[in-house]
Amino acid sequence: MNQFKEDNFYKEKNIASKFQIKGTPITIERYGCGHINTTYLVKTDKNKRYILQRISDAFDVKILMDNISAVLKFTSENINDERGSMKLVKTLDGKNFYSDSTGNYRVYEFVEGSVCLQTAENKSDFYECAVAFGKFQKMLEDFPAETLGEPLKNFHNTIDRYRLFKEAITNDVMGRAKLVKEEIDFALSHEKDGSILQKMRELGELPIRVTHNDTKLNNVLLDEKTHKALCVIDLDTVMPGLAAYDFGDSIRFGAATAAEDEKDLSKMTINLDLYHTFAKGFLDSCDLTEKEIETLPLGAKTMALECGVRFLTDYLNGDTYFATHYEGQNLDRCRTQFKLVSEMEKHFDEMRLL
Ligand code: ATP
Ligand code: MG
Repeated sequence: MNQFKEDNFYKEKNIASKFQIKGTPITIERYGCGHINTTYLVKTDKNKRYILQRISDAFDVKILMDNISAVLKFTSENINDERGSMKLVKTLDGKNFYSDSTGNYRVYEFVEGSVCLQTAENKSDFYECAVAFGKFQKMLEDFPAETLGEPLKNFHNTIDRYRLFKEAITNDVMGRAKLVKEEIDFALSHEKDGSILQKMRELGELPIRVTHNDTKLNNVLLDEKTHKALCVIDLDTVMPGLAAYDFGDSIRFGAATAAEDEKDLSKMTINLDLYHTFAKGFLDSCDLTEKEIETLPLGAKTMALECGVRFLTDYLNGDTYFATHYEGQNLDRCRTQFKLVSEMEKHFDEMRLL
């Protein structure tokens, strides 16, 4: 081991040993493709494996870890399959996370025999991704969702998103509003539609569920041999919300036919086959009310619209929130999302056939 690696190993070994793990760490290596937290795989001399994560400083660690630990306690007590839920490993003094001058850390048991895919290899992987999120919803149907904290305030509050958008138009700090009149008009003409779910939520017309809010394929673990859904991971953004948010965001991301910043908008539409594949996986594995099911297509449209409005807001504000790699990337992202909204509107009758 070179000196640098060795120093790091002892630092992380020291951190891992603050948790109730079985055995002494023999190797600790960076692991996976996550972008938010720093993830390590810990192997011990008792042949056990763990995931150690340095939690991103962007989060309020207390809210986050209280949420995660409450949710995982509930799911891990309500599973038949050992690998149906992640399990949090407590610190030696029984806490959910460990803090020192280098940051905040947590440990999960490693889900053995699992695979985490970056892209779907076929339609069935996408179906299994939906099953994983559906099972997560189902396992938590009796969990009191309103007791969870909100790590990101007003995350899907579209009414508030529009308020911030209008503020950005008024301030127009970069003088860009005149360049994006068409996009601003599109957003404003969809404001009413975009507010429907939020209003239903405020009127108590839909059940408040535990939502995941980062429903990507790479936040699901599948069985490495059969590719069947095991469990969902990456619970940093778990909070109270509507089933339509998780469903909608999965569709926005997974059933779109073009990349988020594609310039050729003719490439962007909704793949209805993937849409129905996901819907089937989700509905096969959780029990939603009739009214919730009715809101799912609107959830997909609302998530694309909300995302487009957020990109446009950030473009007007001078790209201060989303990382950009070239000038105008947020505008390109906004345009793909708005094109997706228009395409969904064209195919809305087909989307409603659930
Ligand atoms: P993102 O960029 O999606 O926000 P992140 O930085 O929050 O990622 P995670 O998604 O929590 O990180 O985890 C990173 C990777 O570690 C996952 O993609 C997965 O490969 C692996 N992983 C996480 N938890 C477990 C676990 N309990 N068992 C096995 N592998 C895991
Ligand atoms: Mg992840």
